Amino acid sequence: MADYLAHARDLPIVPDVAPGDIRRRLPAEPPAAGEPFDRIAADFRELIVPGMTHWNHPGWFAYFPANSSPPSILAEMLTATLGAQCMSWQTSPAATELEQVVMEWLRRLLDLPEGFTGVIQDTSSTATLVALLSARERATAHRAGAAGMAGAGLALTAYASAEAHSSVPKAVKLAGYGLDHLRLIPVDQDFALRPELLEAAIAADVDRGLTPACVVATIGTTSSTAVDPLRAIGEICRRHGVWLHVDASYAGAAAILPERRATIDGVELVDSFVFNPHKWLLTNFDCSAYFVRDVDTLLRTFQTSPEYLRTRHDPEVVNFRDWGIQLGRRFRALKLWFVIRSYGADGLRAMLRGHIALAAEFRRWLEAEPEFVVAAPSPFGLVCFRHEPAALAGDAAALDEWNRALLARVNAAGSIYLTHTVLGGRYTLRMSIGQWQTGPEHVAAAWRLIREAAAHPARAGAGDASNGLR
Ligand code: PLP
Repeated sequence: MADYLAHARDLPIVPDVAPGDIRRRLPAEPPAAGEPFDRIAADFRELIVPGMTHWNHPGWFAYFPANSSPPSILAEMLTATLGAQCMSWQTSPAATELEQVVMEWLRRLLDLPEGFTGVIQDTSSTATLVALLSARERATAHRAGAAGMAGAGLALTAYASAEAHSSVPKAVKLAGYGLDHLRLIPVDQDFALRPELLEAAIAADVDRGLTPACVVATIGTTSSTAVDPLRAIGEICRRHGVWLHVDASYAGAAAILPERRATIDGVELVDSFVFNPHKWLLTNFDCSAYFVRDVDTLLRTFQTSPEYLRTRHDPEVVNFRDWGIQLGRRFRALKLWFVIRSYGADGLRAMLRGHIALAAEFRRWLEAEPEFVVAAPSPFGLVCFRHEPAALAGDAAALDEWNRALLARVNAAGSIYLTHTVLGGRYTLRMSIGQWQTGPEHVAAAWRLIREAAAHPARAGAGDASNGLR
């Protein structure tokens, strides 16, 4: 494991494999007899590692980071060793109480309001589903859970920006609102939700006899890290009695920086808030921090009490099985505890500031080049950009194709990995700086490679190691 972390930088980030290549090299039949561990480990090194995409590579600029770190990895090993089910206090007292403590640490680090209580969910997608289910129950006075949506007799509506993550429509679908009742509110020039249009949509739904139940605001959208205006949205939700959930999956971590806390200004108006330490806080997947104000509604939504799970301590303890969907729970608090203690608040802040400064510098390099266009604000570690050669000016389709090809050339070198999105209808490249081992030299090398690939399309390509990273 230590070798891997030390040498991940020498591997091509994305493996050169075609679908089915790896499966073909694995036996169809399970072994009848146990095999020596040496052979299993050798196959892991030879068949699996070369077939992986290396998220822990310092040239990782794709999607968002999914950070790991040595203390987090050690905690995961201990979690697996303990092998405990953390569903109830009784089934793992230390796990339950440590989860309460580290979630309170996180609440304080992010400076979330005192009324919030935290629970670890596996992913943001689950947390957002939990929020939509809680909002549904609150809006129907728990009739939906008891009698089904038809029994509740209300048609519920949900709202999010047109830039919201796909986990929002998924949760709307699963929680029984129905996709037809999801309003995707248009965004402004910075890709943030327009609150006046949200208010108009809520009012129109009320006029039509529908029941607005939940708004999801995003702090740090997936495409461009846009920040929805939380305070304005919160005031609208308060006026209309609508549950406000905040999806801060990636960018929430930045709220531990006093200079970035303003991005969640208005958070005292929200009902629930999720962010992922497994993205940008050195804690390996999976670990989503979900904070909720109204614990009673959460419990009434999820609580079950079968005889075989009851314990004599139930009246005086927290049983996290009642705080979400699953019964069995992993001991995830351990890795958060190891990470926060190992790095301290100062160490975590230093890492985030380092990434944000690198993103700002990368942005300045783009702005200094006449043919590169920065496509969105960069409040965190992401810079969205396009290359627009003068020869293609005004031809949107050709520019999209040019940038698609540019991305393919850049990634073909194997030493860095970027992904794309579409912003305002235009194909856009995303430079997401947040991998824990990424330093200035990696960003500088990436910039050299991108410029080279843009200026000399014929020269860049597979096997090109000229950026000095491999
Ligand atoms: N929300 C946002 C804004 C995201 O960017 C992502 C993933 O990148 C998610 C939700 C989904 O996160 P998870 O994989 O924890 O469900």
